[in-house]
Amino acid sequence: MLRYEDAPDPELGPGEVLVRVRACALNHLDLWQRRGLEHVTIPMPHISGSDVAGEVVAATAPDVVVGRRVMLQPGVSCGRCAACLSGRDNECPRYEVLGYQHHAGGYAQLVKVPVANLVPIPDEIDFVHAAAFPLVFLTAWHMLMTRARLTRGDDVLVLAAGSGVGQAAIQIAFLHGARVFATAGSEEKLERARSLGAYEVIDHYKQDIVAEVKRLTNKRGVDIVIEHVGQATWPASVRALARGGRLVTCGATTGHDAAIDLRALFAKQLSLLGSYMGTKGELLRAARFFFAGQLKPVVDRTFPLGDAAAAQRRLEGSGQFGKIVLEV
Ligand SMILES: [Zn+2]
Repeated sequence: MLRYEDAPDPELGPGEVLVRVRACALNHLDLWQRRGLEHVTIPMPHISGSDVAGEVVAATAPDVVVGRRVMLQPGVSCGRCAACLSGRDNECPRYEVLGYQHHAGGYAQLVKVPVANLVPIPDEIDFVHAAAFPLVFLTAWHMLMTRARLTRGDDVLVLAAGSGVGQAAIQIAFLHGARVFATAGSEEKLERARSLGAYEVIDHYKQDIVAEVKRLTNKRGVDIVIEHVGQATWPASVRALARGGRLVTCGATTGHDAAIDLRALFAKQLSLLGSYMGTKGELLRAARFFFAGQLKPVVDRTFPLGDAAAAQRRLEGSGQFGKIVLEV
């Protein structure tokens, strides 16, 4: 159950920063944790919200300027294990996401984070767009650039262009010289996918994704598929791959039971890649393009914090294009 009520102010531990939340974007994670997840216990009451922008109000860490405008890295890691020290902090055994499990998130006026999670934002970037950036652009960046090793000239299929990850993946792939094919479920969403850089678009309700991909690539298939839909699209995603193709997935919104024909896997030399969030270094890298105006998070709608329930209903309804953001 989601309730709007008073909560105690967070108390800072060593090396932490208190941030006055100005905007917090929604993610599917917010819905899943509200419904309950297998094998995951979340101490109650819990505050959701993984994508935060705001201002620093206090810090127990040195060299932090009070009043500084920031967005927050959504991944929290230990900072001292082999994975963290190798720059792969999203593989840290203690990795957690802000607003999930033990970390109270941004559906609040105040949130605390380790100082390593601060990303200062320039004055020309507003809080709503800053909050819409981190989680999905980080996720899409890690999928495309690190896991699937996108190369200039690759053909990339992005499923569900209107989703947060979808709109981010189209932009990142386009920026790096890929030819992007995107799917969506309405004429308006397809048009918006084109405006973000999609070369061709596929209506996933009216057209057969595999047939369209084969037609558009002269029967070759695509080099990379960006998957997060899961069970409903998995067979088509595998069949849309070219020889040597990479399927990278970060989610299973429609279900997690997937099968694969092993003959296709080996004969076509396919790679199936899992991806979860991304590293702190990757977010800083992606943010440079955001601050320079080359990546632009798409904001669907904003809601006041008190209307978080209505905001979550909009996300559940799948009518959105881009990020839904709470203003605090
Ligand atoms: Zn670690």
